[in-house]
Amino acid sequence: MLVKETIDRKEANLQTIEIVFHNLGLRSWIECTLCWDCPRNDAKGCCYYNPTYYPVDFSYLYEVKPEVIKVIFSQPRITIMEKYISVDRTEDKDGDFRCQFHSLEGGCCWAPELRESVCRFYVCPGCAIWEEEGTAIWKEFFDRLDTYEAQINKAISAELATRGLDLKSNAREFIKQAAQLFKQNWDIMPAWCREYPQEQRFLLKRPIYYGREWKL
Ligand code: SF4
Ligand code: SF4
Repeated sequence: MLVKETIDRKEANLQTIEIVFHNLGLRSWIECTLCWDCPRNDAKGCCYYNPTYYPVDFSYLYEVKPEVIKVIFSQPRITIMEKYISVDRTEDKDGDFRCQFHSLEGGCCWAPELRESVCRFYVCPGCAIWEEEGTAIWKEFFDRLDTYEAQINKAISAELATRGLDLKSNAREFIKQAAQLFKQNWDIMPAWCREYPQEQRFLLKRPIYYGREWKL
């Protein structure tokens, strides 16, 4: 009886979700249509998070949209560490937390490619994107990207440490030299990323649960 009820409930809640994988090299991201009407029903979903920026993020932003860096540094609550900066979430009206870049009215204020990697890659477990047939190539792609980006971040921070630079002591110079190093040694669209499709869409049918039942 319990099994039948569980199956019925699952079927009743089935919804179609569109997932789009965007290959933009080191600015790749995963789009999920469910985010427009997040089942958490709290107008922030997974954006209770502290976005955290590393050398690759700063290198990209420095070249493409340096004003974003100014906005990051002007937030009322940030934590500056030697190798990264996090924009610390603030307490929300509901007693939970909300990212400082998230508003009730418009969601995230940044275009996807301007976000840090967790914000570009994360899709909540209820969407079970890696269980869908055909997504294995994208799992491989995003895992590779994660490792690749971490290696570059490590290499840039290590090189700048030999020059006596870190974000805590001199953020401006750290970011400037990180961007130069990145330009000299790497590419936003590395050759291996070009071997993967540019974009691919999937339609997933998943049972949806609401409020706190929808896990993050
Ligand atoms: S919790 Fe899931 S559906 Fe909601 S905003 Fe985050 S990724 Fe989108
Ligand atoms: S930066 Fe944007 S996507 Fe990332 S947690 Fe904040 S509001 Fe969400």
